[in-house]
Amino acid sequence: MNREVLLERPAAIFEGLPGPNEFYGQDILAVSQFNRRNLEYLFALAERMRDVVETRGGIDLLRHKVLAAIFYEPSTRTSSSFIAAMERLGGSVIPITQGVQFSSVSKGESLPDTIRTLEQYADVIVLRHPEKGSAAIAAHYAEKPVINAGDGPGEHPTQALLDLFTILEELGTIDGLTVAMVGDLRYGRTVHSLTELLLNYDVRLRFVSPEILRIPLDLMNKVRDAGYDVRETYDVHDVIEEADVLYVTRVQKERFTDLAQYEQVKDYYEITPELLKHAKERMIVMHPLPRVGEISYEVDKDPRAAYFRQVRNGLYIRMALLAAVLCPG
Ligand code: ASP
Repeated sequence: MNREVLLERPAAIFEGLPGPNEFYGQDILAVSQFNRRNLEYLFALAERMRDVVETRGGIDLLRHKVLAAIFYEPSTRTSSSFIAAMERLGGSVIPITQGVQFSSVSKGESLPDTIRTLEQYADVIVLRHPEKGSAAIAAHYAEKPVINAGDGPGEHPTQALLDLFTILEELGTIDGLTVAMVGDLRYGRTVHSLTELLLNYDVRLRFVSPEILRIPLDLMNKVRDAGYDVRETYDVHDVIEEADVLYVTRVQKERFTDLAQYEQVKDYYEITPELLKHAKERMIVMHPLPRVGEISYEVDKDPRAAYFRQVRNGLYIRMALLAAVLCPG
């Protein structure tokens, strides 16, 4: 990619990518939309976004394009990275976040009406909502593309994409790895999305959780039916030596109806330097963040702690997605 050409002609960023742009004008709702081919395309575009950001901060690819970012649930990284992504591509954002309780939703306006209103101003909609399936409902009503930024305990596809991209960047491959997911596998939507996405690759899966937070049965059956080498355990020591990726998650307090149950499991795991002594020298510890005690702060110094690099990759992946959805390529 010639950096000088990009200054004159930002759309040149798409030239020479592997394969056609399958995302133009599409909703991004679930990881089932992805396969090895279009993932390769997206990751190659994300690499270019990294180069653009590192060399000159951004590119005027989406000038005069507007994103409506609607967050009905708290978000730090997802909302701010979508905003940063849009702005580094030269576009702008209508942020409906903190003030959402003051918007028409609290006056009883339905999701379809909110979506149909905001798309009059915007070219693309990013939605986070507490109900599973909400992004698909929004997409049904919207004419503009909708990107799912987390639908309750359902999916979080853009997080899974940045997670997978991080594994690839850090370890150079996905095939052949052992990926251990630790923590709240029941309600953790990032776990659900990443597990499904990993089924495009040849991996071994280990699920580590307390009994009440086990991976949903339908997802476990899907993994088993696809013939994967998969195991469940309560004890992180069972997997620490073989893991290439230790994907740690927070217990999702907001999804519990019985808070006493949350109290029982909230401190179940803590990843410490002591535990990591048993891990491979070349492996990574990931976390979608926020962490609330599952990884001790001393682990941050360990070069294997990849969670802040993972955050940064979220910017490149969301830039790539926005570019691919809004430009024919
Ligand atoms: N930030 C991630 C999510 O929105 C993980 C979490 O909240 O625990 O799902």
